[in-house]
Amino acid sequence: APKTVLVTGCSSGIGLALAVRLAQDKQRRFRVIATMRNLAKKEALEAAAGPALHRTLEIKQLDVCDEKSIRACVNSLPNRHIDILINNAGVGLIGPIECQSIEEMKAVMETNFFGVVRMIKEVLPDMKRRRSGHIVVISSVMGLQGIVFNDIYTASKFAVEGFCESLIIQTLKFNVFVIMIEPGPVVTEFEMKAYEDAEKADYSQTDPETADIFTNLYLKNSKAIFSSLGQTPEDIAEHTLRIITAAKPAFRHQTNAVYTPMMALKHADPTGALMTDTFYKMVFKYETLLHVSLKAIRLIRWQAQKMRQGVKMLGFR
Ligand code: NAD
Repeated sequence: APKTVLVTGCSSGIGLALAVRLAQDKQRRFRVIATMRNLAKKEALEAAAGPALHRTLEIKQLDVCDEKSIRACVNSLPNRHIDILINNAGVGLIGPIECQSIEEMKAVMETNFFGVVRMIKEVLPDMKRRRSGHIVVISSVMGLQGIVFNDIYTASKFAVEGFCESLIIQTLKFNVFVIMIEPGPVVTEFEMKAYEDAEKADYSQTDPETADIFTNLYLKNSKAIFSSLGQTPEDIAEHTLRIITAAKPAFRHQTNAVYTPMMALKHADPTGALMTDTFYKMVFKYETLLHVSLKAIRLIRWQAQKMRQGVKMLGFR
């Protein structure tokens, strides 16, 4: 029988691509419950789903910030049966923290962290009872590593990573797999929304130097990174499909190999010096955010070599 997959945040981007990819699976392995907060935004999904609509793809309302809507959606499914939950809904926030209100910050945590917690709380008891299930979270490389001017967004993804890293030990006892997908930049509305908000922001709340670093250095570099290294939502959908069909999927999956060495710096040096030094030099010496520049790549290689020498000196291997 096809597996029932519930995906959150399907009106655009990764959620839309994922819902469509799974529903159009040639082997018909999935029945997709594609959910979104606002059903008025369902046209793009309906158009992309094509003949899969009402066959292998059903659209339902679900707001990850509203427990009642989550309960109503899950209760509407036969036996509340969900084999695979994909937590995709999320919001971004960039800029100097002085320019962001506590309310805006809380809204990010409400969606990106508590949204995932609410969903898992609702489906986990059924999965445990059936001793089977997959819980996928579309996290981010920013769930593993802080990036300048993404302070609150990164905090929300770290929160979800910590939550899931604790939870998986228990869920594995019940044969329930928790899977973190950690993409780098993906070209979706997400990025555009963050830029639009950043353009409207009031930078008088911060000093001119910080405002200049953000608007000139950060925003310009960030746009360049998305256009050079950005993956498509379809890439992430393909990656996720491979992972959820694996016999025993691992916990963490980065989708963009370019970011793996950057993320490794932190684990290589527990003091954090290797990581902060590399990122500081990248931003303020080479004026780049991640390795779009050869200089930055050389710097990372050099740091990694230094690290290996250090490890040898300490007598491991
Ligand atoms: P997107 O803005 O196109 O999609 C996010 C979706 O979540 C939207 O459809 C939005 O309506 C929905 N959403 C927001 N609040 C919601 C709520 N309360 N209830 C239900 N749905 C809600 O952007 P995307 O890039 O497709 O983002 C999807 C996920 O991927 C997010 O969790 C994001 O953090 C993550 N991600 C994105 C990138 C990137 O560069 N775009 C990189 C890594 C991770």
